[in-house]
Amino acid sequence: MKHVTNNEIPVLIVGGGPVGLALAGDLGWRGVDCLLIERSDGVIKQARMDMVGIRTMEFCRRWGIVDWVENAGYNRDYPQDCAWVSSLNGDEFGREHFPTPAEAVPPPQSPQNRERCPQNFFDPVLRRFAEQFDGVTLQYQTEFVSLLAHDHGVRVTVRDVVSDRTRDIEAKYVVACDGGASTVRQQLGIDMQGPPALTYTTNVIFRCDGLERLHNKQPGYRYIFIGPEGTWATLVAINGRDQWRFSLVGDANRRERTTEELRAAIERAMGKPFDFEILSVLPWVRRQQVAERYATSRVFLAGDAAHLTSPTGGFGMNTGILDVVNLSWKLEANVRGWGTPALLHSYDLEQRPVGVRNVSEATSNLARMLSPRVTAPSDAVFTPGPEGDAARLAFGQAYTEMMRREWFSIGIHLGYVYEGSPVVIADGTPQPEDTVSTYTQTARPGSRAPHVWLSPGVSTLDLFGKAFVLLRLGANAPVVDALIDAARQRGVPLQVHDLLHAEVREMYASPLVLVRPDGQVAWRGEVLPKDVLTLIDTVRGAAPMPS
Ligand SMILES: Cc1cc2nc3c(=O)[nH]c(=O)nc-3n(C[C@H](O)[C@H](O)[C@H](O)COP(=O)(O)OP(=O)(O)OC[C@H]3O[C@@H](n4cnc5c(N)ncnc54)[C@H](O)[C@@H]3O)c2cc1C
Repeated sequence: MKHVTNNEIPVLIVGGGPVGLALAGDLGWRGVDCLLIERSDGVIKQARMDMVGIRTMEFCRRWGIVDWVENAGYNRDYPQDCAWVSSLNGDEFGREHFPTPAEAVPPPQSPQNRERCPQNFFDPVLRRFAEQFDGVTLQYQTEFVSLLAHDHGVRVTVRDVVSDRTRDIEAKYVVACDGGASTVRQQLGIDMQGPPALTYTTNVIFRCDGLERLHNKQPGYRYIFIGPEGTWATLVAINGRDQWRFSLVGDANRRERTTEELRAAIERAMGKPFDFEILSVLPWVRRQQVAERYATSRVFLAGDAAHLTSPTGGFGMNTGILDVVNLSWKLEANVRGWGTPALLHSYDLEQRPVGVRNVSEATSNLARMLSPRVTAPSDAVFTPGPEGDAARLAFGQAYTEMMRREWFSIGIHLGYVYEGSPVVIADGTPQPEDTVSTYTQTARPGSRAPHVWLSPGVSTLDLFGKAFVLLRLGANAPVVDALIDAARQRGVPLQVHDLLHAEVREMYASPLVLVRPDGQVAWRGEVLPKDVLTLIDTVRGAAPMPS
């Protein structure tokens, strides 16, 4: 086997799933060269994620690819209702109505909406985004083999899976986006903490044209099937057209399913035999695990390599995209020389608690979805007649009410806070309650900088991304020349925006607000601190801010 050593590249990304591709794209967008290696040919055999969360869509807006996501292939006129049924031709217990993607309007807290875009559509969008930058190289059918960290970087051995040749690559930094079974994580000896197996589930993608005509329920995006034994399966409109994802939820016992068993389960869900073509079967294990740490000095874990979650809530990939948006500008800062190792270390301190929070919320969603297994519905729920109707109504109303927390989770997507981060300067205000289904915007340091419309189609969020941004709000905002000088002295990219909008001033609650390149508030105040250099040094990871 031949070994070839390349020249050093700033960032090597291992894994070209949605998280690795998003990092490659964000680095390319920042003008930082990177190489992504992906073991497979990049073709998605079975889509897992399909919900692109509201924060991820805000990043897509920043990257200029919202219309690519919207036009990626999901049927935007497809109804998005969720309903709980005994079968598609049986009883309906309840339903939550949602508009179609085309009809949905963003909530007041954001210029964007969550989108439906399954992985077989979303990965190509992210790939196209990343590929448009000269500094980004994507190498498919290239497998990570091993790494050796040294004083100046990391030597990575990779294997061409077609020719079986290996070669070495020198990188300054490595980011492991290689999924739940992360080889990089294992080689670093980083353990996962948390329950390793909540359920052994089997997913089946099948094709059935006109499935809606085979049953008497209103069309929906997701159906949850509940029988006398409790919740046993779900069905999702994976492309809003002819493809469906059936999940036999299973339990904590590993079990192999035969094709006959799977076909019988799908027909049970329909409530009668029907014609369908199985396209793929994916047995998978639902976990609630977070890596004990997210980084060594030069190697970082992101996405499923760092946290594994039940899909209930759609947090997995979206948390992974948060990871890489947090990490990317810190890598850039270090590659360009104005950031420090402490800034990189803040990735673990800031983002790991978000992982813990999100995976535990997903597990509590799972517990709610499966709760009819614990408190079984009464026999009357499955008995025809008026008594049964009353039992179904009561059961359905309670289930509908309980499930709302999963369907409405804006607080999880927007309300994460980098509390206690050493590169955020606290302003002494109390931490707001961490809510799930509601979200009150705040410019409290550590929070996502709020959205306010500045003019039709232009959001405050459109100001953030490539540099630190200092907002001067209101007519009497203090002069900030000293901070501009300090940033220049330290090589920190800083843009200043003067905004007179009363609504922005009120929302941000201070006349001066410093927003980081990832869109999180780093500092706010009435006036600049006397020691502006310490302020700049703190947010670039070079000095603790005296309290
Ligand atoms: C049924 C289901 C539904 C879901 N729905 C949602 C949802 O709606 N929203 C959401 O946010 N999340 C959802 N998730 C979770 C989501 O799919 C994952 O969190 C997401 O795919 C993780 O992305 P990733 O890039 O970190 O990892 P992966 O998608 O696992 O990608 C890792 C990549 O690394 C490559 N790789 C692995 N080892 C190597 C190696 N040694 N060398 C090179 N390459 C390697 C793999 O080939 C793979 O392409 C769902 C999950 C499931 C199971």
